[in-house]
Amino acid sequence: MKTCTKCHCRLPLRKFQSRRGSGDLQAVCTPCLSAARRLRDPLPALPRNPLQVRLNNHVNLWFGPVRREPFRSHA
Ligand SMILES: [Zn+2]
Repeated sequence: MKTCTKCHCRLPLRKFQSRRGSGDLQAVCTPCLSAARRLRDPLPALPRNPLQVRLNNHVNLWFGPVRREPFRSHA
């Protein structure tokens, strides 16, 4: 068991990456490292799915654009 210096969690040693070259473990746990990487790296652009585009257009034509206020006819 080892305490992470960032989240102060006591975690087993397999949750800590070893530094390149030397065998000693890093002070920050792998979940903290991946959370920091996810905050730093932007999400990749989604590929356009033609079926999803058709479905979205169909639904928008059927139900109309989404409104914040409820429809009076539905209330
Ligand atoms: Zn941590």
